[in-house]
Amino acid sequence: MVKIGVLGLQGAVREHVHAIESLGEEAVVVKHKEQLDTIDGLILPGGESTTIRRLIDQYDFYDALVQFGKAGNPIFGTCAGLILLANEIIGQDNAHLGLIDIKAVRNGFGRQRDSFEATLQITGIAEDFEAVFIRAPYIEEVGPNVEVLATYDGRIVAAQEGNIMCSAFHPELTDDNRLTNHFIEMVKKSKLVAQ
Ligand code: GLN
Repeated sequence: MVKIGVLGLQGAVREHVHAIESLGEEAVVVKHKEQLDTIDGLILPGGESTTIRRLIDQYDFYDALVQFGKAGNPIFGTCAGLILLANEIIGQDNAHLGLIDIKAVRNGFGRQRDSFEATLQITGIAEDFEAVFIRAPYIEEVGPNVEVLATYDGRIVAAQEGNIMCSAFHPELTDDNRLTNHFIEMVKKSKLVAQ
């Protein structure tokens, strides 16, 4: 069994905990940076990236999170979590954690399409994934080592680079846990390598 942390500062925390538990793994809500030493992988939930970033600074999480990712520990960022992980945010001078080589566009689907669902093909994971998008970002460009996992309307909406993965949509809001399961498999592999 692996222990997956969900950053619990703001956003859709409980839904991720529920998804992890329904896959038979242990979930822990991470509210202090010291907890990062006790987990095998981390999920950065959706919510509001600017608010989460403010709380990351307020709770002195920033360096510990960057270190956690740079050390090769698996991280999965969903929606706002994708924005937090990106190396670059279009239209902003500064990114946040800078742990994956992607350029993110915040609220990239525009106001008229605040929330919608779409069926996605996710490479190696699902042919028919019902994805929920809520004021979602998209990925405008990826670096050479990034694998594109899914696109919608010609826009990249899920990607992975090494042990860092992200989705513009919310896999925790439906009962389809295949993407979360893919992350858990990554965590299990990286734990085996580390032993
Ligand atoms: N638009 C939000 C942001 O910029 C993300 C929305 C979400 O996580 N559902 O942080």
